[in-house]
Amino acid sequence: MIIILTGLPSVGKSTFSKTISKKMSEKNMDNIILGTDLLRESFPIWKESYEKYIRDSNTYLIKKALENKFSVIVDDTNYYNSKRRDLINIAKSYDTVYITIYLKAPLNILLTRNVQRGQKIPNEVIKDMYEKFDTPGSKYSWDLPDIEIDTMKKINYDEILNEILKISKFKNLKAIKKLENPKMDFLENDLQKIDSMSRQIVGNLIKTGKIDNKEIKKVSNIRKSFLKEFKSIEHEKINFKKIEEEFLIYLNENLKKDFI
Ligand code: ADP
Ligand code: MG
Repeated sequence: MIIILTGLPSVGKSTFSKTISKKMSEKNMDNIILGTDLLRESFPIWKESYEKYIRDSNTYLIKKALENKFSVIVDDTNYYNSKRRDLINIAKSYDTVYITIYLKAPLNILLTRNVQRGQKIPNEVIKDMYEKFDTPGSKYSWDLPDIEIDTMKKINYDEILNEILKISKFKNLKAIKKLENPKMDFLENDLQKIDSMSRQIVGNLIKTGKIDNKEIKKVSNIRKSFLKEFKSIEHEKINFKKIEEEFLIYLNENLKKDFI
């Protein structure tokens, strides 16, 4: 498996990696911590011109580790969702389970921890990163972390390892099911799309005042029964535009309203 960490500098990723890595090895899971910082630290000084080598080598090492059936803990900021997606795609291309872990802490704590460890990165940089950081999952649902750790609280590593094993088992089962019945998976994907589409429509209708607050519960039930009906019918090729229209008609009929 590949454990993809994400979190701002000084949040505690490297500390977390070392402990969880030991816990994993106690359970006989061969694993390695990799990350661009480890390579960066192998240079006596830093130059921008080293960065491409660092990134490429890191990707290479991750792939090699997976080929060797080692679990990988990616100890990196993974600041951009594109970086997280690249890592997820590596996992997929190696048929490996991936687990994303988001470590968080308030800004003032990050700055204090940063000072404590010698301010290798200026506090100003962390402040700036904090402002611009997209919380994982805020833009894309695929980016929602499997595990979120509030580093202000005491970290229960045994509990987290259990969680990791549970998620890994679940994702493995899902992958097997997908192999056995690829059509099922299709349906699940389509359902997810329709679920979020209908959610968005309802959200807009509420926002624009077309649905009364008193009717929210009723609308939510209508939406659920629409999804249930969709699920029960055999679909060949799905036309999402048409389903969007159908959902509005369905809402109209069931609420005796006229949204269109
Ligand atoms: P990162 O790898 O995310 O940059 P580190 O693991 O190097 O962060 O930790 C940064 C500093 O914060 C270190 O001095 C470390 O001892 C401290 N630290 C790490 N995790 C915690 C935690 N959960 N609670 C309090 N301090 C922590
Ligand atoms: Mg670190």
